[in-house]
Amino acid sequence: MAKSSEKFFSQSEKEALVASIRAAELLTSGEIKLHLQSKCKAQPFEEAKKVFEKIGMTRTQEKNGILFFLSLEDKQFVILGDSGIHEKVHEEFWNEIRREVIDFFSQGKFAEGLSRGIKLCGEKLAFYFPRRADDQDELSNDISVS
Ligand code: CA
Ligand code: CA
Repeated sequence: MAKSSEKFFSQSEKEALVASIRAAELLTSGEIKLHLQSKCKAQPFEEAKKVFEKIGMTRTQEKNGILFFLSLEDKQFVILGDSGIHEKVHEEFWNEIRREVIDFFSQGKFAEGLSRGIKLCGEKLAFYFPRRADDQDELSNDISVS
C-alpha cells in the first residue's frame, strides 16, 4: 500500500489533507476520515462499509462520521456517511460531492479533489452538527491506510 499511496500523494499533500480534516472539524462535532488502499477485493461500497466499521466510525455519539474511501490502483471512490448525517442530507448530497471530487480526480488532482470534498462535507456537518464547547476528537484525523 505504501507504494501506491506515495505514487498518488506526496508527503506534503498528505499533511495538507490531515490539516483540512482538522480544519473542517473545528466547526462541527462530526468526524471525517480518509482511507486509502491500493485495490478493492470486493464491491467498493461493501468494502467501504467494512472499513467504516473497522476503524470505529460507527461509534460516534451523534452518528455523524463521514468516510472518504479511495482505492487507488483500481480508481474506486466512495463517500459514506453514518445515519445521523445521512438522514439530514439524503442521497443527492453524496452524489453532488462525489461528482465534484471525481471531476478533480479525472484531471489527476487527487489531493485537491479530496480536500474540496472534505471542505464541503465539513460545512454541511457544521450546519447540522455545530461544534460544542466540550467537543472531543472522537476519531483521529490521520489518514487510515490498508
Ligand atoms: Ca469531534
Ligand atoms: Ca477527527
